[in-house]
Amino acid sequence: MATESDKRTTTRRRLLQAVVGLGALGAGRALFGVGDSGGPEPQAVPEPQARPRPPEPPAAAYRLRPMAGETSRSGPGAAAPHADIAYTLSAGRREVFLTFDDGPHPRYTPQILRILRRHRVRATFFVIGENAVGFPGLLRAIAEDGHAVANHTWSHPQLTGLPPDDVRSELGRTSALIDDVLGAAPNLARAPYGAWDDLSLSICNELGMSPVGWATDSLDWTLPGAENIADAVLAGIRPGGIVLAHDGGGPRRQTVEALRWYLPRLLDDGYRPVPIEP
Ligand SMILES: [Zn+2]
Repeated sequence: MATESDKRTTTRRRLLQAVVGLGALGAGRALFGVGDSGGPEPQAVPEPQARPRPPEPPAAAYRLRPMAGETSRSGPGAAAPHADIAYTLSAGRREVFLTFDDGPHPRYTPQILRILRRHRVRATFFVIGENAVGFPGLLRAIAEDGHAVANHTWSHPQLTGLPPDDVRSELGRTSALIDDVLGAAPNLARAPYGAWDDLSLSICNELGMSPVGWATDSLDWTLPGAENIADAVLAGIRPGGIVLAHDGGGPRRQTVEALRWYLPRLLDDGYRPVPIEP
């Protein structure tokens, strides 16, 4: 008997297949083969003139509830705060949400996984499809440790101003890749540079994902030194806060070193890092 969640998964899978049909997915799916569960998977081939499917009705279950008044103004190109985007989540029990963007990276992602594992802490990884396609094993390693695997587009463009088909392809390809490798499509997405607009938010929602921002930028992308990264996290942290850091997209030795330093201190202060769950 199909449960509600099965139905949602099926719906999401169909949406992703529609993206496949638009030709956006070629490379990723070719690498992993068509279908991940044995039987041949029907390929949706939309009519050439087919209009995009209308968005699903608001999927309440997918929506994170950002706390009012939280803003995210840091990071290059960060957009103005938007009511649909989560910057801070439930502040109960001093939970905090560590996030790592722009991976996976064959050197830094395993180093970060090792530190998180040592402290029995789980986080959220916003992966770039282009980086993940060559390293399905890293995606599996992230998921097997209990971290959330989330969508950070295929090639990390600024989504604002892109034509709708490009936005749909950037988000849809990465969701389909994650679905192929892990057997479940992601339900969280973060726009590169935190730059969302109404179009990208609505496509994100169509694809069954909640948009996620951040409340504390570790500023690791500016390569300020491990000590400054750790200071930025420790100074900015508060219950419910989402923390931005990076496991790919540049040299991340400082990020790794900083994590090794600030994570035990967060734990000593009674914070509980947990993955984001919609
Ligand atoms: Zn990024």
